[in-house]
Amino acid sequence: MNNNITPSITLVGGGLVGSLSALLLAQRGFQVDVYERRADMRLADISAGRSINLALANRGIFPLQQAGLMEQVKPLLTEMKGRMIHDTNGDCHLHPYGQKAHEVIYSVSRGDLNKLCLDAAEATGKVRFFFNQRCTKVDFATNTIELEHSETGSISETTFTRILGTDGSASAVREAIHQNTSNYHKIEPLGHSYKELTIPPSTNGDFQMEPYALHIWPRGGFMVIALPNRDKSFTVTLFMPNTGPVSFESIDSESKVKSFFEKEFPDAIPLLPNLMEEFFQNPTGHLATVRCSPWHYKDRALLLGDAAHAIVPFHGQGMNCGFEDAWELIEQIDKHENDWEAIFKDTAEARFDNGNAIADMAIENYIEMRDSVNDPVFILKKSLSFELEKRFPNHFVPRYSMVMFHRLPYAEAYRRGKIQSIILDELVSNISTLEDVDMSLAETLVKAKLNPIAL
Ligand SMILES: Cc1cc2nc3c(=O)[nH]c(=O)nc-3n(C[C@H](O)[C@H](O)[C@H](O)COP(=O)(O)OP(=O)(O)OC[C@H]3O[C@@H](n4cnc5c(N)ncnc54)[C@H](O)[C@@H]3O)c2cc1C
Repeated sequence: MNNNITPSITLVGGGLVGSLSALLLAQRGFQVDVYERRADMRLADISAGRSINLALANRGIFPLQQAGLMEQVKPLLTEMKGRMIHDTNGDCHLHPYGQKAHEVIYSVSRGDLNKLCLDAAEATGKVRFFFNQRCTKVDFATNTIELEHSETGSISETTFTRILGTDGSASAVREAIHQNTSNYHKIEPLGHSYKELTIPPSTNGDFQMEPYALHIWPRGGFMVIALPNRDKSFTVTLFMPNTGPVSFESIDSESKVKSFFEKEFPDAIPLLPNLMEEFFQNPTGHLATVRCSPWHYKDRALLLGDAAHAIVPFHGQGMNCGFEDAWELIEQIDKHENDWEAIFKDTAEARFDNGNAIADMAIENYIEMRDSVNDPVFILKKSLSFELEKRFPNHFVPRYSMVMFHRLPYAEAYRRGKIQSIILDELVSNISTLEDVDMSLAETLVKAKLNPIAL
């Protein structure tokens, strides 16, 4: 146990999780230095990286509330009540995410949210951001980090007492922890990538589709989604395999893009005026799950956010999960005060199984979004889930709702979700409508197999 009183903490990475963590730590009285490889996004016209907008849900909202930021975040949000499914023939149907008025998720601009967290952290007077500083090495023998200036290439060094790796999926801090520990570190490529496109506002400045929904064009092995932006545009993302008959490798010419969209997404074509330029000029983003252990090094270093557990984006939970990590750290600081080995170890332990659970659920949700949403049995099970939640709210909550609208640990949501899935399979076998479900069997199964839920 180390009882040094440490007023200063160094963060590598000032993205979403780094900037919110810096704010929360400053509010607990720490001096925080953050080294960020990119330029200051508040001054330079740079992309915030990766997806332009993100889905914010209950788990991400809670730490923002604890930081006192929600009133400033609210004007940045667009409510999404459900999935708007686009069929190939152009028909659309809304599948609500939940069954209560507050069971919605929110689209938010990554850049706007990141800027808000940077401003709020700086306004505490306790946080210093050093931009254009890429961490190239962390040395635990000398407690130094090596930094390379992203524009000039000049190299400098600085010392640290405690370091947090909030430097995303290719984390330099993770690399250093794993050089000093017996470790495992797996990168599991999904084999699918993504491309961002834009539906601009209409000529009269309005949304071109229903704004209060997450739009999905599910097509089996691939899909398109669209999230609304405050400027009344939509950010559209095409997800498809890297190789194979329908893939980023095979669709490699304007004529192939044209015929692919005409066949699969005909209703989207008139909404995408810059399809060709965007398809060929925008980068193709690769998707992978990062699993590693340990997430901490003695009383010196801890990983948070994507640095510890990068996941695929199909549950819209990567940032939400990273914000939960940041709040867990604060709770462990409150609990253990200056015992930093316990703070880091217990934060990592509290989050590890949850990180793995949401990683698995995110992959499963890709199959649900691109493949199952139009399947009649899936739709029947979804309606039955809502009905069981209505009848037995203390026992049965649909898995999507447990993940998106509650703060039940992910691992518990995953565990309960597996049991619920078996119950649903049994109840819908050989029937095709909700009215045919044997509700007394449902009650017996739900109460026998599911302990009361602590939400
Ligand atoms: C297409 C897509 C859609 C997504 N949609 C959602 C969604 O809807 N909802 C959701 O919750 N999540 C979503 N995510 C996941 C979400 O983007 C991440 O989980 C989140 O950005 C993680 O935040 P972070 O701060 O841990 O990492 P990052 O956002 O990657 O930030 C890391 C920061 O560290 C900096 N950095 C990296 N290396 C170094 C270094 N060596 N030295 C100094 N600085 C460094 C980077 O410049 C960056 O600013 C999505 C991801 C993708 C790819």
